[in-house]
Amino acid sequence: MLQTGVDALIRYTALWDGRSGKFDGPGMLKIKSGKITPSVPGDETLPVWDFAGLTIMPSLIDCHLHLTLPDGGNEQLAAKAAALLASGIATVRDAGSKEQTEFTLPPLCVVSTGQAISKVNFYGSHLSLPVRSAAEAGEMIDSLASRGVAQVKVITSGIFSFSEYGRVGPSPFTTAELTEIVRRARRHDLPVMAHASGDEAVRRCLEAGVHSVEHGYFLTEETLQLMAEQEIFWVPTLAPVAAWLETESLAVRLDGRQQSVVRRSLDQQMKMVGLGAAAGVKIAAGTDAGASGVKHGPSLLRELELLRESGLTAADALRSATSVAAAVCGVSAERGELSPGKDACLIAVRGNPLADLSVLADIRQLVVPPYRSKNSHL
Ligand SMILES: [Zn+2]
Repeated sequence: MLQTGVDALIRYTALWDGRSGKFDGPGMLKIKSGKITPSVPGDETLPVWDFAGLTIMPSLIDCHLHLTLPDGGNEQLAAKAAALLASGIATVRDAGSKEQTEFTLPPLCVVSTGQAISKVNFYGSHLSLPVRSAAEAGEMIDSLASRGVAQVKVITSGIFSFSEYGRVGPSPFTTAELTEIVRRARRHDLPVMAHASGDEAVRRCLEAGVHSVEHGYFLTEETLQLMAEQEIFWVPTLAPVAAWLETESLAVRLDGRQQSVVRRSLDQQMKMVGLGAAAGVKIAAGTDAGASGVKHGPSLLRELELLRESGLTAADALRSATSVAAAVCGVSAERGELSPGKDACLIAVRGNPLADLSVLADIRQLVVPPYRSKNSHL
């Protein structure tokens, strides 16, 4: 890992900027004070970091994970941060924890939601502070804002059943309550990320004007169309479902019927991701790392492969963890793209990630800017 505390030039063989559909290069990228800067005469005197033979691209972003899960505490935070960085992930959005936790894990940039908001006696108490009403949720949002969270996470449905295909736990908040929650968050300039599965819960979220829909299993095509029109992000979290089929220790816990329900649910989600991408829905990569069988770091590549298998182009799959992900996380001004003015926050890999995502399994270099304390709540 290299930190751009000094000004330097990076010599690269190929560059993907995080947005376009093609490569540039070979060439040199100038870094000044941790930022990407246009070259000017005289730069030849700067130190050169030689990444010849490598492709550089923006460092990766995981839009949905839980740093305090599965253990529920803070003991493993440093190890999880190290695993994320080793996988080329320098920015994450934490989707909620049970206790209020400060994530100061430099150079990992954590977009924090603090404690998620759930409703008493409904799903989600393991990663939230349950409330009894929208009024209580409003007070909680004021409190979260005063503690410096970057976004608000609200849990608007249960999880889907492994025994009965298409059944989702109940939606605890009405459309009016969700609208009130979104309005209260906006008062503090905080976008709302909404855990929502099942078409009914997602429709309520769209009406309320949330920033992103998390999971969104069992959507209809009409709802996808609305998401595209309203430009609401979708983080479909395929990896945590696939983990139940691909992880030996989890698969053995499912009987034959459950295995087929999980397989069918994943197939359906992948089909809707393909249709959503074709309809213009902005799809972002989130792993739900911390969920059963989903490891912090390596799971992002699995998510990208599943998005690709669902029908996203290779460029769109990569955008889902770079430029689109930066917009989801509210860090577009700094991250997700290699262009002048952005953070010098990049990875180098051997080969062409647009042709073969698996090159991301071997991060040869990670370059990060000097840590700024505001990054913890960017
Ligand atoms: Zn989650």
